[in-house]
Amino acid sequence: MRKPLVAGNWKMHGLRADIVELVDGLNKADLPDDVEVAVFPPFIHVERVVGALSRSDIKVGAQDCAIQPGQGALTGEVSASQLRDLECKYVLVGHSERRLVLGESDQVICDKFVSAQSAQMIPVLCVGETREQREAGETFEVVREQLGAVIDALGVQSLVSAVVAYEPVWAIGTGLTATPDEAQAVHAEIRALLSGYSKDLAEEIRILYGGSVKATNAAELFGMPDIDGGLVGGASLNADEFSTICRAAGCK
Ligand code: PEP
Repeated sequence: MRKPLVAGNWKMHGLRADIVELVDGLNKADLPDDVEVAVFPPFIHVERVVGALSRSDIKVGAQDCAIQPGQGALTGEVSASQLRDLECKYVLVGHSERRLVLGESDQVICDKFVSAQSAQMIPVLCVGETREQREAGETFEVVREQLGAVIDALGVQSLVSAVVAYEPVWAIGTGLTATPDEAQAVHAEIRALLSGYSKDLAEEIRILYGGSVKATNAAELFGMPDIDGGLVGGASLNADEFSTICRAAGCK
């Protein structure tokens, strides 16, 4: 039985006052017991958020980590061990904004995946196709390649302690959402791919959907059999809307 996870990616949003207000809203929110909830603040706010969250049922994650797990000479980066020290449980790896805007390669993504795990954090590996790739009928191929890069480099067992997030790039921050059937088809494909390696892994791994998830579409998406919650960007910046989304992932 997979416990759903709803993860709020705050991206590069929030001045201190905004974060205080958001955390205050989360502390008062009506969140379901049968859903794991996590928030991913910008690095500069991680410690503040960990300290201000008065409830232990909300986990904190980081949006990125350095390729090298320990401390060292890598100006501007933040290591997985430093994030773990701040009590982060999860790290986003391979988000499309980092793949496409910041040019992160599969090799870098694998290195960050390893770093996260070596610091006892759980990587949330993001995969997904661009609009052009979808229109060219390449969705499954792209997702298989992105997952395959990690499996080939690190072995399929590396996914035992990981989460996968399917995030079609054309749906991120655009207001466009994959239909529940479109999303389910890709999630089922990912699970089938993993099942070819290990039936237990395929059954146990959580596969989140991300891409303009909102209070109005979350229940339909999360109702699909292979969608185990969501990675939520814009809508996670409002505590009321985010908690509605979290509730939509419960009682499956
Ligand atoms: C994201 O940043 O991972 C995301 C899915 O953003 P949004 O929900 O705003 O589309």
